[in-house]
Amino acid sequence: MRKASKQIVILGSTGSIGRNTLDVVRSLGGNLKVLGLSARSNVEELAAQSLEFKPQVVALTDSRAAREFASRFPDLKVLSGEQSLVELASLPRADLVVVAVVGSAGILPSLAAIETGKDVALANKESLVAAGEIIVSAARSKGINLLPIDSEHSAIYQCLKGEKIEGVRRILLTASGGPLIDKEPGEIEATGIAEALRHPTWQMGKKVTIDSATLLNKGFEVIEAHWLFGLEPERIDVVVERNSIVHSLVEFVDGSMLALLSPPDMRLPIQFALTYPVRLRTKLESIDLTEIAGLRFEKPDFDKFPCLGLAYDVAKKGGTAPAVLSAADEVVVDAFLEGKISFGDIHRILREVVESHDIKPKGNLNEILKADRWARQKAKVIVDDIMKG
Ligand code: NDP
Ligand code: MG
Repeated sequence: MRKASKQIVILGSTGSIGRNTLDVVRSLGGNLKVLGLSARSNVEELAAQSLEFKPQVVALTDSRAAREFASRFPDLKVLSGEQSLVELASLPRADLVVVAVVGSAGILPSLAAIETGKDVALANKESLVAAGEIIVSAARSKGINLLPIDSEHSAIYQCLKGEKIEGVRRILLTASGGPLIDKEPGEIEATGIAEALRHPTWQMGKKVTIDSATLLNKGFEVIEAHWLFGLEPERIDVVVERNSIVHSLVEFVDGSMLALLSPPDMRLPIQFALTYPVRLRTKLESIDLTEIAGLRFEKPDFDKFPCLGLAYDVAKKGGTAPAVLSAADEVVVDAFLEGKISFGDIHRILREVVESHDIKPKGNLNEILKADRWARQKAKVIVDDIMKG
């Protein structure tokens, strides 16, 4: 590591990635110092984390939760409101900001961290889907490290170390296939909430778990890889590998392939990003390759999972189209989890929103944020119409 102790800020510390990040911090002893933590409204979890990790600043975007928290921690600096994430991401003493909030709430804080010269460990894929060009070019011009936490992208990042992108023929993103891979189309259409949340290999927050069931998550990851690694979507393929042991592969122009294998545990890509460029020990067990029943790679079924094709479509359209898909998906996934729409409605609503959008081909940040607001509104109207029957 560059210094004895790296100072980190974790946005979304009460979530699945946030808690795993703190677990890594805990396991690394004094190598990392937590400077700031944030939640939306989970006061209890943030309180427990604050007692253990003693941050100097915390943020709760929900102002009522922030007031309650501040009354319990009168000596701690407590920020609130949407802008608080930007303030936390810009703390002058931070070396690295982990962006682990869900959805487009990650866009402005990621940019703020980059603009103020911090390395960024990015779990929040939605910010790259919506504003990938802006984020990646800001990171390049500031000369900071943009380190992906998403396991597939961490794998590709590691496979590409020391390689030139001109030497790459294509990227193969692996997918577990999600909980519905073996279902018939009619069964998928009628999937219930509990079933959609039952992911076979990963324990994650609800939104990304539903996105994994529709395979839209994998579609978002195609767009994420497109921006992170500078490869056209046509050269990013998806293959199903059900064990979640091969985390992705890179095929080079000479026909060689490199893959990254590890147990399916998010603490690995998180630790890689936190300690970069140093690799440190973990307590995770090695995989016994002889115990794996067989590594099999299958083609994803675009007919059964139309969200995957929709993501490729918006990736090719570019401009504000991916931001629209991502923002509409936040609304539609919430509506599904609240029992307002069926599982099958998800892809139909998303397609309708995307097709009625007037794409701005070179979306600047304002146009992207405007498209995001438009898409949310449009998706809500369609959800309301469905509920009215
Ligand atoms: P969770 O839902 O578990 O956690 C989200 C965190 O962000 C919580 O701390 C939550 O606070 C906070 N939060 C949610 N919405 C907002 C908002 N609008 N403004 C401010 N804070 C907010 O999500 P995950 O940890 O599963 O996922 C985080 C990101 O990482 C997502 O973009 C996801 O796609 C990506 N990712 C996740 C993986 C995983 O294994 N979980 C794997 C790869 C990528 P509160 O607790 O108060 O609600
Ligand atoms: Mg992933």
